[in-house]
Amino acid sequence: MSETRKPQWVRCGECGHEWIGLYMPIEVNRLSKIVKGMHRPSCAADSKAIYMTQGRGDE
Ligand SMILES: [Zn+2]
Repeated sequence: MSETRKPQWVRCGECGHEWIGLYMPIEVNRLSKIVKGMHRPSCAADSKAIYMTQGRGDE
């Protein structure tokens, strides 16, 4: 597939770090898998602390 994928920023609620966690669009199945597997090595927050955000420098 050669559709354009948009970076989706995610944010750690524990330390406030933001990073590109995945690329949209994505299948719902894969999305939940990726989010569940996500964690920040730096602060050890688990996926419950991570949510999607707009990110910066996009406007
Ligand atoms: Zn963190």
